[in-house]
Amino acid sequence: MKKNKGIVWFILIILIAFFSLKIIELNSEKIESQPEDAVTLSGIGKGKSGDILVEVVINNKKIKHIEIIEHNETPGFDKAMVRLIDDIVAKNSVDVDVITGSTITSKGFISAVKNALSKYEVDEELNVDIEEVETNVDDNYQSEILIIGGGGAGFTAAIEAASLGAKSVTIIEKMPFGGGNTRMSGGEFAAPGNWVQVEEGIENDSVELFYNDIYEGGYRQGKPELVRILAENALDNALWLRDFVGVKYRDEQSWYGGHTVARTLWPEGDGPKYIDTLIKKALDMGVNVEYNTRAEEFIQNEDGRVIGVIAVNNGIEKRFYGNKGVILATGGFGANVEMRMEYDTQWGRLDASIPTTNSPAIVGDGIVMADNIGANLIGMGAIQLYPVNNPATGNYYFMDYARLMSNALLINKEGKRFVDEKETRDNIAKATIFQPSATSYELIDSKVIEEMDLEGKYRDELLRGYDQGVIFKGTLEECSKFFDIPVEQVEHTVERYNSFVESGADLDFNRTKDLRKIEEGPYIMFASVVSVHHTMGGVEIDISAQVLNENGDRIEGLYAAGEVTGGIHGGNRLGSLSIPDTVTFGRIAARSAVNNEGVFIPVGNK
Ligand code: ADP
Repeated sequence: MKKNKGIVWFILIILIAFFSLKIIELNSEKIESQPEDAVTLSGIGKGKSGDILVEVVINNKKIKHIEIIEHNETPGFDKAMVRLIDDIVAKNSVDVDVITGSTITSKGFISAVKNALSKYEVDEELNVDIEEVETNVDDNYQSEILIIGGGGAGFTAAIEAASLGAKSVTIIEKMPFGGGNTRMSGGEFAAPGNWVQVEEGIENDSVELFYNDIYEGGYRQGKPELVRILAENALDNALWLRDFVGVKYRDEQSWYGGHTVARTLWPEGDGPKYIDTLIKKALDMGVNVEYNTRAEEFIQNEDGRVIGVIAVNNGIEKRFYGNKGVILATGGFGANVEMRMEYDTQWGRLDASIPTTNSPAIVGDGIVMADNIGANLIGMGAIQLYPVNNPATGNYYFMDYARLMSNALLINKEGKRFVDEKETRDNIAKATIFQPSATSYELIDSKVIEEMDLEGKYRDELLRGYDQGVIFKGTLEECSKFFDIPVEQVEHTVERYNSFVESGADLDFNRTKDLRKIEEGPYIMFASVVSVHHTMGGVEIDISAQVLNENGDRIEGLYAAGEVTGGIHGGNRLGSLSIPDTVTFGRIAARSAVNNEGVFIPVGNK
């Protein structure tokens, strides 16, 4: 037995020795495979909801890897940290931009990495400034109603909130002036039963007809309950603009593609005067506007209620609170090439070569901010191209009113018509994009030039266009030659179209509206291209203009109106519906927020 025990001990000792050697071998292999100067440093920074802990691996003076060890940031914000890891490693520097919409998380994360690096012997090549980022936060901006974005929807909401008795209303606007895309528009407003229709004896319009036009024009993709609210409140809101806000309308109206009848009111001075009237009214009513102030991120309380935003003004971070509600009115994302390429499901080519009619500020900030806190986005794939824009700037021609409100032809490089000039903007854009060089040429005769006073009203646009070489005035022959279009074909096209006018039937494109002859010259001809105009998708709202999350529940405290929202125009917005949309839902958002009850309160005097 003793002898056996001795044998067992002997075998055990041999085994232990063998495995010990193996372990030493393995460890030395591990140590050898790790370069000598690789170090792992841990760091800590303050995020939105507590500490962010990271580990940074540095090897050969390079940041090789960053691991997020612990954080309590809201789901979604962690995406920002992952993007920052890529940026920091790629640049080998912490001098990277914060991620829009996740400012606090980004700064907290960057300071955690800096904190880790401060424990390393900092080397020039590492290009690290280890000073902690100071978040210069000023907490003193409290209002009852906070509105993000000072365009059409924002100013409408502000006026309504003030007139409902809100004690303090603040708009923050990232540009040095207000207006956004609304300022760049014609300010047109479609309203069935309006006073100009009455003057003109148009009696066959109705809310129901209007509802159908919007819904069908949007390819039945709009939310019917929102479309109905828009249709039912349009006239009241037009009256409110005219009688309460003081917008002056012309005595004429126009007939836009997709509308069954002419029902579009047109303000004096177009978009610029329209928005300036709103701004003046808001200021008169005591609304506070903070310009040069860009909202970056929502602030939520512990229950998830939106109570304010973090914004940046002159490089300084400020917190603005809306104690009764926050209204998002930052517009769409037409000027954000990355976003429109990501979301577009229709065109497949909305890269930087396609210009935009939008203000450069319209880059989807509000949509990203709302997405980051779980708002549902709908209809994001539907992006509208405006068909008639200056190729030199991408902006639409105001002179295109000649086509919209009177009579003009659209021809292609071969001198042929290719579409019903009165079609919806969507269908004209679709037709134009497939023409040679994706370019069209609008032809206007001297009668229309005179009738519409194009040379008086649009003098600046004309003079600029002549300089840019995109507009020409002359005989049919001179115009055609200027744009290198076969003259005989242009003459033939005009004769053929005029013969359709005589017979009363456009056999080529079935145009029915303003079927008038192209008469004597001198003519104006201008070249035009398609341009991104309106993004139909955005945050989903309910009938109280309250933002919904991905489960269809309301996000408390947050309302939205205007182009930042989706679900109203479905797959396509008809012309002259943008302003009714901003006014209708801007007012509803204000009513819901001021009354703080999240229920729909009808707009207007009904
Ligand atoms: P809508 O027609 O929906 O009112 P507009 O384009 O007229 O839209 O106005 C949107 C406004 O929002 C613009 O004035 C734009 O500069 C502003 N804006 C966009 N993003 C921000 C932001 N992050 N912070 C503050 N203002 C913003």
